[in-house]
Amino acid sequence: MRQIFDALTRLVGAGDVVVLSGAGLSTESGIPDYRGPSGAARRHTPMTYQAFTRDPDARRRYWARSHLGWRLIARAAPNAGHRAVARLQHAGLVSGIITQNVDGLHTAAGSTGVIELHGRLDEVVCLDCGNLTSREELDRRLREANPGFAARVAQVNPDGDVDLPDEGVAGFRTVDCGICGTGMLKPDVVFFGETVPAPRVADCFALVEAARAVLVLGSSLTVMSGRRFVIRAAKLGIPVAIVNQGPTRGDGHATVAVDGPLGEVLSAVADRVAGPAAAVGSDVVAGEPAAV
Ligand SMILES: [Zn+2]
Repeated sequence: MRQIFDALTRLVGAGDVVVLSGAGLSTESGIPDYRGPSGAARRHTPMTYQAFTRDPDARRRYWARSHLGWRLIARAAPNAGHRAVARLQHAGLVSGIITQNVDGLHTAAGSTGVIELHGRLDEVVCLDCGNLTSREELDRRLREANPGFAARVAQVNPDGDVDLPDEGVAGFRTVDCGICGTGMLKPDVVFFGETVPAPRVADCFALVEAARAVLVLGSSLTVMSGRRFVIRAAKLGIPVAIVNQGPTRGDGHATVAVDGPLGEVLSAVADRVAGPAAAVGSDVVAGEPAAV
């Protein structure tokens, strides 16, 4: 383990690292990772773009669950892993951050220029007029359209679990675009069955191709959307390091693979190569335990 950690530290410490992060980086912020070790019992198949746009019942189910689940995301704060990435970036060691996460926590931790491959959950797009509005605004409108809904469900699911029974969904009222009045609203995230906008993908490939190393954090690399960058790096002979809990589909391409808790591992790496945590700002390290 010591040798693996040293190899990881050397790789990151040499700089020009492009980070590719996934759901596993946000689990310590209380956001469930449906594919990680704690997410084995996934109860819902992911919503596809086709089902969302064509089936009003599927859409109602999505928004009802999402209306509840949003609270979890909205109150989530960056964890030690996000902060470590920000420290590495501020220390000049990270040349780019690509995330598959839609929670905005890299940016909240102080990172800049983050490419959000799958979009952001805190923005809502109208599929007719293309207008972007904030999720906060939609949340307010959904609450107005469904008075008492969250409270009724909370009695059944006190922990905010979004596993909402169908009878709970039936009465949920969705809302349309507040700008054009009739357009269908969709969170501005890439659903399954939808492709990531080509310019965004091109930006990611450009980052990866110019990198000295690619650092995968908390992604099982199950979907090609993220895995293709690892494959490209490997083809170009760019070293790939992976920190994840559990095996990943990119392990065959990895120069270094660390199976461990991300907050702990990344904090230790940042302590070693990015200097004292306090360098980024006092709020950034508040409440953090001593380095491992
Ligand atoms: Zn509209």
